[in-house]
Amino acid sequence: MPINHQLRLYNSLGRRMEDFVPAGPVAGLYSCGPTVYAFPHLGNMRPYVFADTLRRAFRWKGIGVRHVVNITDVGHAVADTDTGEDKLEVAAARERRSVLDIAAFYTDAYFADIAALNILPAGEYPRASAYVEPMIEFAAKLEKDGFTYRLPSGLYFDTAKDPGYGALAQMNTEGQQEAARLEYVEGRRRKTDFALWRAEEPGRRRVLRWDSPWGWGAPGWHLECSVMSMALLGPHFDLHTGGVDHRELHHVNEIAQSQAFLGDGRPWVRYWLHNEFLQLGAEKMAKSAGAAPRLADLTEAGYHPMAYRLFLLGGHYRSQLDFTTAAVDAAQATLRRLAARIQPLRPLPSAGTLAEAVAATPRDPAAARLLDTIDAAVAADLSTPKILAALQDALREPALTPDGQRTVVAAADALLGLGLAALDPAGLERRRAVGELDEEERRAIEELVADRTQARQQRDWTRADQIRAQLDELGVQVTDTPDGPLWQLR
Ligand SMILES: [Zn+2]
Repeated sequence: MPINHQLRLYNSLGRRMEDFVPAGPVAGLYSCGPTVYAFPHLGNMRPYVFADTLRRAFRWKGIGVRHVVNITDVGHAVADTDTGEDKLEVAAARERRSVLDIAAFYTDAYFADIAALNILPAGEYPRASAYVEPMIEFAAKLEKDGFTYRLPSGLYFDTAKDPGYGALAQMNTEGQQEAARLEYVEGRRRKTDFALWRAEEPGRRRVLRWDSPWGWGAPGWHLECSVMSMALLGPHFDLHTGGVDHRELHHVNEIAQSQAFLGDGRPWVRYWLHNEFLQLGAEKMAKSAGAAPRLADLTEAGYHPMAYRLFLLGGHYRSQLDFTTAAVDAAQATLRRLAARIQPLRPLPSAGTLAEAVAATPRDPAAARLLDTIDAAVAADLSTPKILAALQDALREPALTPDGQRTVVAAADALLGLGLAALDPAGLERRRAVGELDEEERRAIEELVADRTQARQQRDWTRADQIRAQLDELGVQVTDTPDGPLWQLR
């Protein structure tokens, strides 16, 4: 029987697993992109690794995709309800740079991280500032159709006009009000009502400003995503992704205004997919929580960017992950072992699609079985931990033919996007957790450290230096403290 499991994805709209069937020949996919006012931290990158996993699953299943990721370079207010100051303008004032400089600088930083994490580029990266005219037209239509009201602070969407408001969040509006960072707005009828257009306050001229029927000002953040996605993917499209925090407010508001705008009684987007948070200790990693680590911090500490990617893929995208040094150490060690095992198998064949992989292994039942396992894992809501497990199995399965083994490894690599076909294990040597050492290695190091201490006590500096050189070669760094020597792996 040919392998081909039906792709099933967990739809936040309804909170259930559903068969994924694109509406047309090419699936339309929109992922909420970065607001470019600060460096993205590690937690910010999880949604893009998740969307990339989805892209690779589509490629595997032979589903064409058009992917759009927006760049929010204007309009994202400090409060998510779209009131108050603009994040970019606050950053510009803080860093004493122009808003355009800030946007360009942090857009580059985002693309650098995307490239380092081996994330497939989207088809389009629309900038919000280039779509202000269609945003004004969109809001004007909502106003004409009676979904809005005006306040001195701007044009507001009237959520009372939308009987289905908040269905995605599956919570009553009171709960949403508790959960979200909502603030008091003079004259707002309901706390859930949100700004479509944010008018300038009298006497406070914005840097980036446009004239509109509601005065000079800037569009609301929620409006940006509705307008840019429809402009590039059509009025209805297949999938919308983002972090789980967007499920409660941003995406709720996108749906409300889009369905009011379209007015055709159909759901705007059929599948809503959300990745869970990355936790740093017990804290959610949000930009507002202070200095959270960036990818650059990891690479400076000697980790490969793919160690972070592997750490993420070791959990399912809908599981919360705890980011710890021990976890990323373990990921780097696994990455190094994988690269070392795969190096002799190179060059790997091309096996980015299921059809390609199956065609490359016609008479290898063990390979067929592993490809079936991988396909089942992809189809079960993108189970990357199971794909990783199948990759490990392929490296120790004696029944595989050499070609079968190479194909299974290449297939798993194409889905995981770890770049194992080219990764140099020597470049991954530097970091090793003490916990990764086996008993014998640890004892040998401790003996050398003790010998060195003894040599120093006997003032045998030559011998002490020799031992230090030996430890150096093993990648062990010794620090002498008043309480005795401490050692760690570099
Ligand atoms: Zn968005």
